[in-house]
Amino acid sequence: MNPALDSKRAPPIIRLTNSKTMHLSHPTRTFLLFTGSLVFLAIATGAAAPIVLKVDSRDVSRRVLHATLRIPAQPGPLTLIYPKWIPGEHGPSGPIVDLAGLKMTIAGQPVAWRRDPLENYAFQLDVPAGATAVDVSLDFLLPSDPNGFTQAASSSANLVVISWNTVLLYPKGPAANAIEFSTGLQLPPGWKYASALPPARESADGIEFAPVTLETLIDSPLAAGAHLRTFDLSAGARTPHRLNVVADSAAALEMKPEDLARFSKLVVEELALFGAHHYRKYDFLLTMSDQVAHFGLEHHESSDNRAPERMLIDEDLRKAWAGLLPHEMVHSWNGKYRRPADLATPDYHQPMKSELLWVYEGLTTYLGEVLTARSGLWTATNYLEHLALISAQLDHQRGRDWRPLADTAGAAHLLYYARPEGNSRRRNVDFYPEGELIWLEADVTIRERTQGKRSLDDFCQRFFGGENGPPRLVPYTLDDVLDVLNEVAPFDWRGFFQQRVYAVASRAPLGGIERGGWRLVYRDTPSDMLKNFEASTKGTDYSFSLGLSLKEDGGISDVIPGSPADRAGVGPGMKLLAVNNRRWKPELMRTAIKEARNAEAPVELLVENGDAFKTCRLDYRDGERYPHLERDASKPDRLMEIIKPRGR
Ligand SMILES: [Zn+2]
Repeated sequence: MNPALDSKRAPPIIRLTNSKTMHLSHPTRTFLLFTGSLVFLAIATGAAAPIVLKVDSRDVSRRVLHATLRIPAQPGPLTLIYPKWIPGEHGPSGPIVDLAGLKMTIAGQPVAWRRDPLENYAFQLDVPAGATAVDVSLDFLLPSDPNGFTQAASSSANLVVISWNTVLLYPKGPAANAIEFSTGLQLPPGWKYASALPPARESADGIEFAPVTLETLIDSPLAAGAHLRTFDLSAGARTPHRLNVVADSAAALEMKPEDLARFSKLVVEELALFGAHHYRKYDFLLTMSDQVAHFGLEHHESSDNRAPERMLIDEDLRKAWAGLLPHEMVHSWNGKYRRPADLATPDYHQPMKSELLWVYEGLTTYLGEVLTARSGLWTATNYLEHLALISAQLDHQRGRDWRPLADTAGAAHLLYYARPEGNSRRRNVDFYPEGELIWLEADVTIRERTQGKRSLDDFCQRFFGGENGPPRLVPYTLDDVLDVLNEVAPFDWRGFFQQRVYAVASRAPLGGIERGGWRLVYRDTPSDMLKNFEASTKGTDYSFSLGLSLKEDGGISDVIPGSPADRAGVGPGMKLLAVNNRRWKPELMRTAIKEARNAEAPVELLVENGDAFKTCRLDYRDGERYPHLERDASKPDRLMEIIKPRGR
């Protein structure tokens, strides 16, 4: 998943956010789970009849999906589960609060169900003698609030993204790759759709998909809408790669040829990095709407990317969202093909353990942003400015004084939903950006220790490559990661990660940047990436000077402990009204910070705290401070080596 650019819930200071005990000797699990093969399924299960799921999306503009299921059943007690632990979301986030209208019948007669009092995602019923199936009907109430991830808005008047886990129940017992689903869908008239799911036939009654396992179904969301275009990114390659774009307007689909060339180059660079792929075809689903939640969710053969409506036609938005598709595609290898064993649960009701997300998400963040630069979606300057920004944010994060990075990964399913206020004491999902810096340092370390002959690319080829083929899952443990790193470049990798991931570290890990030939400095002008970030989040970030960040309306989203703002009594959740006795606006604040350099007087802020007001005097004389990277000519420029394109 990629929540990083969710502007409404994560203002700048908060984006950077993290621990736990390391499992240092976990036996390697070698079992493989194959998905999507009907033949395999039939052998494994004795070919039980599939569950028939029919979804009607014609009421989507009134924010409801209707579904029916026919679930084969034996007489006796039966437990049906609504999917709870959602792959890629790393937590118990199945949106059950919006499950409504649940009715069950057997042979046309209503049957009573009871919700398990301890597991609220489970519904129990008794199947009478002679019965062979349970008929279920249900509605899923599509949310209208765009703040959040899959529990938030996924539709507008013109489009919908259907995550099949929201409209189904499955019998407790068999693994998700041993339950077969035959799925049909009705769309509003004139709408087109895209999905990795293979269609069997289409008629006036709708689309029928070829039967797949429950695992493949949940792994294959569908995007549909009145405005949809599909772009071919495979450039003659044997394996199809498609970019399917659905938007709220036809105008939003006008992709510039240079952008299309960059997305095609992205595919070339992803394949060059990993050396082999584990999908039969790859479909990007890109939903562009200001009415839906903005984030990305990974799948084996597709990715569900949701971004602002004007992402392809507004250069600032394009740059701000450039890293989304590269990140989600990396997950086809890191997250789907290879997955931490503790996250590779066999169904959707057994809890996941997420401590290794610093590999799953942290390494994906690193590789995704390197590929954003290698593909040309970002310039080298964009990449350097991005690194400067996350480094400075992480270095100013004070929650790191008590919380090791691994704890942010272990508590991911809590932190995804944390409010921004207080993030600099709490830490946020820091395993994304801090994972990026740690993996950058690992890459630089390999390059140093092998005199430039090897790099993290070699690790990726060994760990994620192999033979081209259909989706499969090969779980891993930390020991597996360390073993392959040691094959590429022998080193005390266990000690390396122990220090950076599992121990409390009060400073951000900047070794990759510094040994990569660059250093973090502060200047009095913001970088283009910071301006771009502020424009897309509508926030203003004074974290590196006064130590606070503001929302568009002056709401104080966070204050860094120990900063001038903190010492003056400013706190998160207050609202800034005036600066030096004038009504607050961003320009005025910047002027006040500049003038305070030479003035005797402090920066005076009038803040509202609920129904109380107070004036806070900030003793700060250092002027504006914004992070940049500066070249250190005493060392080889490894950052530029890292982002050099390698695909042909
Ligand atoms: Zn991710």
